Amino acid sequence: MSTVSTVGAETMVTAFDLRDAVPVRVIVLGAGVAGCAAALAFARGAHEVVVLDRGDVQLFDGWSADEVFQRWQRRGIAQFRQPHNFLGLARSLLRDRFADVYAAVREVGATEVKQDSFLCDAAREAGDEDLATVACRRPVFDAALLTAVAAQPRVTHRATEVIGLRLRPRGHAAHVVGVELASGESMTADLVVDAAGRRSRTSDWLSAAGARPLPSVSSECGLLYYSRHYRFRDGEPIPPYASLLGGPRGDLGYLAFATFLGDNRTFCLSIMVPPWDRAFRELRGPAAFQRIAVRLPGLAAWLEPSNPVSGVLPMGQLRNQLLNVVDDNGPLLTGLIPIGDARCHTNPTFAFGASLSLWHAVRLADLADRAIDDIDLVTYFESEVGADVSARFYAVSAEDRDRARWWSGEPIDITDPAVSLPLFLSFIVYPTAARDPALLRAVARRINALDPVERLAGNPELLDRARALHAESAGDRPSMPRRSLILAALAGDPAELTTETNP
Ligand SMILES: Cc1cc2nc3c(=O)[nH]c(=O)nc-3n(C[C@H](O)[C@H](O)[C@H](O)COP(=O)(O)OP(=O)(O)OC[C@H]3O[C@@H](n4cnc5c(N)ncnc54)[C@H](O)[C@@H]3O)c2cc1C
Repeated sequence: MSTVSTVGAETMVTAFDLRDAVPVRVIVLGAGVAGCAAALAFARGAHEVVVLDRGDVQLFDGWSADEVFQRWQRRGIAQFRQPHNFLGLARSLLRDRFADVYAAVREVGATEVKQDSFLCDAAREAGDEDLATVACRRPVFDAALLTAVAAQPRVTHRATEVIGLRLRPRGHAAHVVGVELASGESMTADLVVDAAGRRSRTSDWLSAAGARPLPSVSSECGLLYYSRHYRFRDGEPIPPYASLLGGPRGDLGYLAFATFLGDNRTFCLSIMVPPWDRAFRELRGPAAFQRIAVRLPGLAAWLEPSNPVSGVLPMGQLRNQLLNVVDDNGPLLTGLIPIGDARCHTNPTFAFGASLSLWHAVRLADLADRAIDDIDLVTYFESEVGADVSARFYAVSAEDRDRARWWSGEPIDITDPAVSLPLFLSFIVYPTAARDPALLRAVARRINALDPVERLAGNPELLDRARALHAESAGDRPSMPRRSLILAALAGDPAELTTETNP
């Protein structure tokens, strides 16, 4: 069996030809969700893998889920303690491809949000069993993945910083033959999987090595996150599901909020506010956060029986970004394939990231077994993944753009999909979904990343049904707290804290 080799700075290797490379020697850059999944998928396909990550190689012997959450420091992943929904796509991939990891997260206290319960007594159909999410804090999820990686034969995990790429020019494309480490070493491989996350530096490294950077597009999410974790007190029942993803969520027209169920009776409330509205910066303080939290629709029933188990965790600088790795003349890069957030990341409220990371990882490993050579591999992978990430990037960017207009007070007719399809889906279609089984399935499959993002919008019959249901339910809609009330609560002004609500 060949091995990934560490070579001197001048060593050059020949281009990767998959027909001659069984097993394939793989460097996985990054040990987040995408990197761990890629390491498992390649190694379980009998390939040889080196995982490189700047973080310590962490073992979790004897650690409880709470210890993992509190003690594990991962400075390379800024959103590590932010809440994560592991959508239906992530759950299906774990169930079907990494059953040991799935069992491990359940064993340490993760639960499932079974969305088919919203179908009530409607006859079940094939595919309904996929409508569920995994309720688990991100560190607990990652610990299960990393533990599986550590136990996996043919994987070496090394704590080191990658600082550049080793390249060979190859016509239209640059061909990556390895990576350079901060230690001064170089490592070569048949394939480098870039799973370095949102801050992947592949394009910078290509430029530094004299190659063209990869073209990318990006847009602002227009959100700041303020999140706080809670735990239900012993003996207190967990409230019934308030949304397809479990907890209460909504958009008040000037901020949004979402509640994420976690493992071991925990949940996390995130309040998302526009970066330009500085009044909300006070949310950073736990007391101010709590004063707002209890006024959000549906939250009192979650907060009263629970205690906070973290401070308020802020996170900003959220962008959507899409990297292009092919153009009309074919691949721009071979020998290195970006997956997960390195390939595309979108507004985290859509929660696509972990699901797509897992999906990219397993498909790449599958296709590496079929591809004839590295050009074939990029082409195959792009044909499966490229259109999907592009559609998701543009759909999310459109919603972010329209939400920013809406939050800025621009009058937008949200009942007309021709005016704003994203707002029509969010405000009209999603809230009515539970009233019609066909609509519920289509919405749940979109939310869970199980369907292409454009499928629901391409079904005019379902959109018309949603509009009719919305019109029928005019009298049942919950009232929303006005911005003035929320700001008074933020300031702790008791005189202003009336029960005033939007009409
Ligand atoms: C606020 C927030 C909330 C989110 N909520 C959700 C959610 O609800 N559901 C969901 O599915 N997704 C969510 N996401 C997205 C999710 O966190 C990402 O999609 C996921 O982390 C992507 O995994 P990854 O493996 O691609 O990258 P990461 O998890 O970022 O891992 C990258 C790894 O690469 C390492 N690395 C990077 N560069 C180098 C280098 N040069 N040398 C060595 N190591 C390096 C880093 O140390 C890190 O360990 C959220 C994101 C944010 C910002």
